Amino acid sequence: MSLDLATVVLLSALNTLMMSFALFSVRRHENAGLDRGLRHWAYGVVLQPAVWLLIALADRLPFWLSPLLANFLLVVALGEFYRAFCMVTGAARPPRWVFALPVFELCGSVLITQVFELLPVWHEAWTAAFLCGLLGMSAVRLWRSRGKPWLDSDRLCFAVFTIGTAILLARALTLVLIGSGLTDGVQGDFGLSMSVFFQSLPMIATLGIALMAKDRLQTELERLAAVDPLTGVANRRSFEAEAERTLLAAGRRKMSVSLLLIDADHFKRVNDRYGHEVGDNALLTIVTALKGSLRASDLLGRYGGEEFAALLPDADQAAAMHVAERLRAAVEISEFAFAEHPIPLRVSIGVATVTPEQGESKLNSLLRHADLALYAAKAAGRNRVQAG
Ligand code: GH3
Ligand code: MG
Ligand code: MG
Repeated sequence: MSLDLATVVLLSALNTLMMSFALFSVRRHENAGLDRGLRHWAYGVVLQPAVWLLIALADRLPFWLSPLLANFLLVVALGEFYRAFCMVTGAARPPRWVFALPVFELCGSVLITQVFELLPVWHEAWTAAFLCGLLGMSAVRLWRSRGKPWLDSDRLCFAVFTIGTAILLARALTLVLIGSGLTDGVQGDFGLSMSVFFQSLPMIATLGIALMAKDRLQTELERLAAVDPLTGVANRRSFEAEAERTLLAAGRRKMSVSLLLIDADHFKRVNDRYGHEVGDNALLTIVTALKGSLRASDLLGRYGGEEFAALLPDADQAAAMHVAERLRAAVEISEFAFAEHPIPLRVSIGVATVTPEQGESKLNSLLRHADLALYAAKAAGRNRVQAG
């Protein structure tokens, strides 16, 4: 089977162009970093057809167009890919020196070919080594920013860029050590296969980076769906899901678990007197006081408007009463004011405990007991703790 290089390059140019249009249309996320990252990636992809057409037509073009301009554009494109990876993986600002790399590569090429007039093989080695470094930078960036677990999409991009780095390194080394490349030029069979590989690299990696962006967006959405937007603590849904898991684990390990239901006292008055915005800030003050008095292993969630729930693993009733009293006192001494007018904040807390002797408890029954205790605390005069 024989392949016509010009046809391959033209088809590939069309594909990459369509790919970049697709990329421009899928972006527009809430997350600005992802958006900017995909935009830089698209710039890199848009340059590919020009690069590969110039390389394919090297025989018919002057030296400054191909390989000089072709290599320059390729370095610009790979620099854009690197910046895209930096942005998608969360770097605040990718390094500015990446802008200088194409000029650096061009200067090196001009020195080698025009000033020192070295053999073309040295120029090829210089370009291969430079591109190898650029692909390697992206691979290193992906390796360093890998999370736990390492996302498949990140791994796909890492694999593509590592394979590209290895091939270019092998090429640069054979050029330097043997004095001629593994290739017989881009028009030869090996050169053709290589150029087809390097043209498909952006396409595979484009799929990879689009998936990387999608994975990050999904994680962000899952986080947003789990937290209460005002206070930043778990919302009712995610609190209940986590509490169910904790109760199951506690049942297996024969541990006590306690649940506190915490309700702000006379909160309607705060809103009525000072307005809803001040009420919101008062809720934030309450949450800060509660969080400051809980352990990292305790789970705090917003259960309703001005009602919060705390799940304390490995806490029997005595321990839970102690913690509840600490929470109540922390809210009482928290300083909250509007226009220098102090606004006292108080909470009532209902405590319910499940002990290993009682066997596994359902969250619902624990909530019911805590709610009854809370009701009793309110009835007894508020600003107090009551066991269920
Ligand atoms: P009690 O001591 O019996 O609990 O009295 P309360 O006024 O706290 O209870 P009530 O249930 O009558 O009123 C709760 C108030 O909490 C009413 C509502 O406006 C306020 N609230 C609930 N969610 C929010 C919120 O997100 N922001 C603000 N500012 N207020 C809220
Ligand atoms: Mg209340
Ligand atoms: Mg309430």
